[in-house]
Amino acid sequence: MRQYEFWFVVGSQFLYGPEVLETVAARSAEMAETLSGKLPYKLVYKVTAKTNQEITDVVKETNYDDNCAGIITWCHTFSPSKMWINGLASLQKPYCHLATQYNREIPNEEIDMDFMNLNQAAHGDREHGFIAARLRMPRKVIAGYWQDEKVQTRLGDWMKAAVGVAVSRGMKVMHFGDNMREVAVTEGDKVEVQTKLGWQVNTWAVGDLVKEMNAVTEAEIDAQMAIYTASYDVATDDIAAIRYQAREEIAIKKMMDAEGCKAFSNTFQDLYGMEQLPGLASQHLMAQGYGYGGEGDWKVAAMTAILKAMGEGGNGASAFMEDYTYHLVEGQEYSLGAHMLEVCPSLAAGKPRIETHHLGIGMNEKDPARLVFEGKAGKAIVVSLIDMGGRLRLIVQDIEAVKPIMPMPNLPVARVMWKAMPDLTTGVECWITAGGAHHTVLSYDVSAGQMRDWARMMDIEFVHITKDTTPEKLEEELFVKDLAWKLK
Ligand code: MN
Repeated sequence: MRQYEFWFVVGSQFLYGPEVLETVAARSAEMAETLSGKLPYKLVYKVTAKTNQEITDVVKETNYDDNCAGIITWCHTFSPSKMWINGLASLQKPYCHLATQYNREIPNEEIDMDFMNLNQAAHGDREHGFIAARLRMPRKVIAGYWQDEKVQTRLGDWMKAAVGVAVSRGMKVMHFGDNMREVAVTEGDKVEVQTKLGWQVNTWAVGDLVKEMNAVTEAEIDAQMAIYTASYDVATDDIAAIRYQAREEIAIKKMMDAEGCKAFSNTFQDLYGMEQLPGLASQHLMAQGYGYGGEGDWKVAAMTAILKAMGEGGNGASAFMEDYTYHLVEGQEYSLGAHMLEVCPSLAAGKPRIETHHLGIGMNEKDPARLVFEGKAGKAIVVSLIDMGGRLRLIVQDIEAVKPIMPMPNLPVARVMWKAMPDLTTGVECWITAGGAHHTVLSYDVSAGQMRDWARMMDIEFVHITKDTTPEKLEEELFVKDLAWKLK
């Protein structure tokens, strides 16, 4: 992955004399250095900006530097904000306003007018906040002492969301064939998605994939098999089926890498020339950070890749998921998530098993090999991006994954079980009211707050279903948002 960094742009002015400006610059450099050691990405001190030109110049540089994933601004002193207008108006990268202060305390004995002039972020940050509000800039505001862990955690979370923006703007999806016939929610306006989110979604022929598969050598398959057996337990005698998945994985990866694609989608209705729907192949590709969507769902494929990139360095995982079936026993209501085959093993609580089973759906000549496992327990979210016609809506629901309450020994696929917020049936009512898909990205790594930040930066609608959501409140929220987005 690219070595992303963020730029620290500090506002001031000439009013206070050169000594103050030197102090501001030295302290800002010190803060960036210290914060770089605490944050997931490097924070580079760029400039103490005092003029319109300096601000415009640093913004231009920001826009053109591919490693720069966003700017963090702060005003140590007072920085008159008219000088920020031209720069901010041309900013194309994520923007966070850190409202902080170099000193934690007001020093009782030491404080005089010089101290006040130097340490007046309370004044400068308000002026800076006004101009961003006046310009209707989508930005994150984080206030608090810069050395506090809570502030650093929030900055780090925002940085990861901003990396999600960079990854989104460079996203290329390899769409094998088309969407599953007649399905509505997996459809979408690819031109709109490219305009808003930057995604390049294009089709590739399954026949080209088959050609690539035929060119894979036995030696390449041997090497892939060594990776599988080192990572997973082989629980089948049908080694040929596993080798066939290895062939599929190698071919798909070659095609994606050749095109710079970070996600792919396919459909069981278009496997012409293939013996098996890619199961283990898709699962192991997802484990390496590629996004995937079943039934031609390129939206969930791209979102999976974006959340994986946002969660990098986390403890959990993000994966393509599907709500399959419910347990509606009072007091123990759960949703069971799985897919035909393709659940990412990064969700697994234990070591996944490679199994082969008959798959009745699609044109599988042979029993596809797939990884079977239970998902881990923990707080998580499910995310769905839908096309409302004229705009995109991102729906996020808080969930709590649990160890599956029964072993389900005859279920031949990986499974995750969770409680939806606020409770299963209310949560389902809210999800259905908002139009959320059956396909989601499930993530233990990325928070709803980060998805809110991401949606703000991408300028799309955001809907969050929490423990406090009611269908009535949600209905009103959706009505108001529908009006607001039509006016935008
Ligand atoms: Mn599906």
